[in-house]
Amino acid sequence: MFATKHGTKQFLSAKKISLVQRYVHDYLQLEVCGEKLKFPYVWLRDNCQCEQCFHKSAKSRILDWSKFDVNIKPKDVIKDENSVNISWADGHTSQYKVNWLKFRSFTPESQKRYNETIYKPSKITWNNKNFTDIFSKHDYNEILNSDQALYDWLHKLSVYGVALIQNTPDSETAGDAIVEKVGFQKRTHYGVKFVVQNVPNTSNVAYLSSNLQMHTDLPYYEYCPGVNSLHCLVQTQGKGGDNLLSDAHYVAQYMKEHHPDQFKLLSETEVEWCDIGTEHGNEFFKLYRSPVICLDSKGEIIRINFSIPQRGSHFPGPIELVKPWYEAHSLFFELNQRFAANFKTKAGEILIFDNIRLLHGRNAYEDNSNNVRKLIGAYIDWDEVYSRLRCLTVKLKKVDGV
Ligand SMILES: [Zn+2]
Repeated sequence: MFATKHGTKQFLSAKKISLVQRYVHDYLQLEVCGEKLKFPYVWLRDNCQCEQCFHKSAKSRILDWSKFDVNIKPKDVIKDENSVNISWADGHTSQYKVNWLKFRSFTPESQKRYNETIYKPSKITWNNKNFTDIFSKHDYNEILNSDQALYDWLHKLSVYGVALIQNTPDSETAGDAIVEKVGFQKRTHYGVKFVVQNVPNTSNVAYLSSNLQMHTDLPYYEYCPGVNSLHCLVQTQGKGGDNLLSDAHYVAQYMKEHHPDQFKLLSETEVEWCDIGTEHGNEFFKLYRSPVICLDSKGEIIRINFSIPQRGSHFPGPIELVKPWYEAHSLFFELNQRFAANFKTKAGEILIFDNIRLLHGRNAYEDNSNNVRKLIGAYIDWDEVYSRLRCLTVKLKKVDGV
């Protein structure tokens, strides 16, 4: 027996009712394995899985919205152990599997579980003190041949923002196979791939042997490449050429706690990122305005932009903000240097890192014919990485009810 919100009682066979259910206002309430779950009627009707409302192979909603009633109420609800059947006031009927509903439950715990397993794994911040503990190393061939190895590498990359691939063949195209396991390269005006080595009269400061100050790549792109891959083909044997990496999420959190005013300035003041020049015969003039620390509506960091060479000289904010902003910028730079990890990749290693979270740089090295350094760079979007990670999560059956 169950009661509708109007108090009418209906009798169903005892077999059909294994769990308590009742209507309260605009929700269907279910008790599944002792857990009380609520589902809004409007949401249930919108997510009807029948073939008139949902296209199975396209996995897309096809119901006619012009006929949709947001105040829809059920006429009748029948539940057995594995499914819920609803007859709606307009005559339509819907059926839902209990597991399917449970996976989409609105409880905070359930939403947290979904975020963690399917949406995006939570990030864990780090600094130079614990960098060696979080810096994971993965094998080139294992990633190409095992879904589990591919998953492990991408999961570590998404959680810590950095992961290293070892034992890569000595070829300029070896990194392509890894990128293809994920998705595809992101092309920029520097090409599909780019070579980092000393080039006199260069179009980019990365192509010099001098000290490369810590930065994010291409902040002047609105659709900024998310992941940076640097395959080390030849590493300088002399002093210098060390990689510097800093978790700017850690630094931003540190600033928020210890220097809240400077944190506010860097997260609210837009600056102009800029790159002007010619590469491969193509002219470019890229501009993008955005703060150094970009936050979403919940105050979570969604993107870091930082590049001394590629910050333009036009300051889009009011004049009074200029000096305080520079002070905050200086502090951010100093803290990233203070908390940066320092190491040197070897030939055969691909350093992969989150370009919109980490700052990276390089110490100066001496470039001469006996002491060269050559890296092959490429970018991948986070959309592709998260997409592959989700496909693997489903394939490797890491969650139930997707
Ligand atoms: Zn339907």
